[in-house]
Amino acid sequence: MTETTPSLRPRPRLRFAPSPTGSLHVGGARTALFNWLYARHYDGDMLLRVEDTDKARSTEESTRAIFEGLLWLGLSWNEEVVYQGANLERHQRDALAMLETGAAYRCFCTPEELEQRRSEAQAARESFKYDRRCDRLPAEEVARRVAGGDPYVIRFRIPEGSTEWDDMVHETISFPNKDLDDFVILRSNGTPIYNLAVVSDDIAMGITVVMRGDDHISNTPKQILLYRALGAEPPTFAHLPMIHGMDGKKLSKRHGATAVGDYQHQGLLPGAMLNFLALLGWSPGGDREVMTMDEMITLFTPDGLQRKAAIFDPKKLEWMNGQHLSRVPLAELEPRVTPAMMEAGYVDEAIVDSRGEWYMSLLDLLRVRARTIDDIVRQAGPYFPGTIEYDAEAVANNWKERSSAADILEAAKEALAGDSAWDAGTLEAILRGLAESLGISAGKIFQPLRVALTGLTVSPGIFEVLVAQGRELALRRLSDAIGWLRRNP
Ligand code: GLU
Repeated sequence: MTETTPSLRPRPRLRFAPSPTGSLHVGGARTALFNWLYARHYDGDMLLRVEDTDKARSTEESTRAIFEGLLWLGLSWNEEVVYQGANLERHQRDALAMLETGAAYRCFCTPEELEQRRSEAQAARESFKYDRRCDRLPAEEVARRVAGGDPYVIRFRIPEGSTEWDDMVHETISFPNKDLDDFVILRSNGTPIYNLAVVSDDIAMGITVVMRGDDHISNTPKQILLYRALGAEPPTFAHLPMIHGMDGKKLSKRHGATAVGDYQHQGLLPGAMLNFLALLGWSPGGDREVMTMDEMITLFTPDGLQRKAAIFDPKKLEWMNGQHLSRVPLAELEPRVTPAMMEAGYVDEAIVDSRGEWYMSLLDLLRVRARTIDDIVRQAGPYFPGTIEYDAEAVANNWKERSSAADILEAAKEALAGDSAWDAGTLEAILRGLAESLGISAGKIFQPLRVALTGLTVSPGIFEVLVAQGRELALRRLSDAIGWLRRNP
């Protein structure tokens, strides 16, 4: 048998179909990403459908928040956005078409009658299923009741047998049809039931692959039956695992920030968020974790999709952000950090413009130890003119003997005050030379110096700190520290 060459394979068409009843959450963003990655990997399209048929719960504000979240993540969609609510007429036409072919029937049972039968079944400890009594109504009676204006719903008649599909994640899933109820497809007010709207739209949009959360597995047999009744080929399904919090329970507000917008406003890098989301239910194999978008596109195949629930670990997200912070091109990082640096009062447009090269190298220095943009800003103080605080622990550990610390700093200040070059190599030579002439280890100079320059026990390499501060500021920090030590013996 010859395999179809890729160019002859139909372009896959996927869709992300959020209900606009809240902002874009981690689960939705993960689903959008997987659809997007699949579409990109197989050179297909991902469409966006807003499932706004639930008028009471859908809001324009949510729709906007979803667009904004997707755009922030860079998950663009192909073609015009489809609004499910605008397709009411087609949904109705499809329901009527199934009436015509006999795949569906009118049901005149009132909600009260159904409720009564349901409670009777419950009392008898039987599961309730519609008993098809309206399917047995003679055609004349149906015609008479329709003409008389009796309200009715349209029900789908579940055929005999079983319904199965080859799920991309779960392999074969099979449902005995006897477990399915003759479900309503069109309400008495003419509005479609969810499963009909989804199938009608997916057919109209030419969707070939449906990827969604596995909470939809129970809808799938009904949807497959609808496809067949409408004479359409069902798509391939992939049901993605649920996302749980660290406590193993389904992710919810209790677990803290779950809206994508929250992370956007915290200054998370979209690339880190995408990378983190990609690992919620997919693995590229091996222990590979940190990936760029292009790498994810290349690696994203269904064999990496996982069944077991994914765990949302906020610490891992922060770690991932740290990984991306130190890898993204500086030019991409800078516009994300600068607003926060401005807000903290460290820089303004003039500094960013006039000392651009210096500013970029400072960001490059600070990002190494940062997991968030805030971490970068938090570490930035020592490199700008304002005074710094000395961390109590740093003082206790590295300025233990105040007067000898002050002496060492005096000596360092003197050694650095000349007009030698101000680069890491020269500075290292000067300070190591000083240690030698004082007959002490280099660490005995570096540690007190670090506290003087940054107020902290941990910082970038001491020579890099000196270079980033520049001679003038570094010497001033040394004088300040000496003054402090002398005042607090
Ligand atoms: N609107 C549905 C949801 O938000 C998606 C349905 C689907 O993907 O088929 O869960």
